[in-house]
Amino acid sequence: MSSLRGKTALVTGSTSGIGLAMAVALAKQGANIMMNGFGEKDAAIASVKACGVEVDYHGADMSKPAEIEAMIAATEKRFGALDILVNNAGIQHVANVEEFPAERWDAVIAINLSSAFHTSRFALPGMKQRNWGRIINIASVHGLVGSMQKAAYVAAKHGIIGLTKVVALETARTGVTCNAICPGWVLTPLVQKQVDARAEREGVSDEAAKLALVSEKQPSGEFVTPEQLAALAVFLCGDAASEVRGAAWNMDGGWTAQ
Ligand code: NAD
Repeated sequence: MSSLRGKTALVTGSTSGIGLAMAVALAKQGANIMMNGFGEKDAAIASVKACGVEVDYHGADMSKPAEIEAMIAATEKRFGALDILVNNAGIQHVANVEEFPAERWDAVIAINLSSAFHTSRFALPGMKQRNWGRIINIASVHGLVGSMQKAAYVAAKHGIIGLTKVVALETARTGVTCNAICPGWVLTPLVQKQVDARAEREGVSDEAAKLALVSEKQPSGEFVTPEQLAALAVFLCGDAASEVRGAAWNMDGGWTAQ
């Protein structure tokens, strides 16, 4: 329960879904946590604090580089260092390319891709100086394969896997590693919106829409859970993963094996 005691982790978008599970799992290993994200945050913060570590929150908007810079500086000031960076914040928009609002394209690229460039460039100097660090980018199977109506998301997720490889190469002779995790369908608020849209469009129940959504892509017919993804992140933070560099590690019920 203390493999990460004394370390500090910043998890972007940790008020909900996968990011919250990452924050809890890292806190259970003893890491202090800087949380971030929008929406109702008190319950999320309380659940991380319940793990018995120091927790703080910064409300940086991940589409704004100046706010990202302030958040990294605030983390280093509050905890003395930033050791583990989980780039998780993300949004989705679903439309055919010719109907895709340009403003939504810009927002998806800014939040799902450019934010990870900005957090990494501000966090890396301290990590390199201390010769220890972990950058974990939450990509997606959509960083490896495409799906219709997700142009911005697929472009951003392919991009973040490219960014992961470059950061991994630039840190290869240091104690800093950078890897991407590529989840398949995970039942979080981000996906529930797509379930709701499908249920309405096809006039079916919530359960039927969930089953149709997941079975279409994942041979297992099961959702991946946030806790399973968080366990992979904990592994990537450990000594056993010190030579895992530049990986795009899928956990997707078999989606990309097809
Ligand atoms: P979610 O909607 O439950 O959580 C997203 C988090 O990002 C929230 O905390 C939200 O407040 C935060 N966020 C959104 N815009 C922000 C901004 N501008 N600034 C700061 N925070 C912001 O979604 P989730 O499903 O947990 O997704 C988390 C990550 O996992 C995303 O990068 C997503 O692309 C990725 N992912 C999700 C799935 C899935 O099936 N749910 C699959 C593959 C990848």
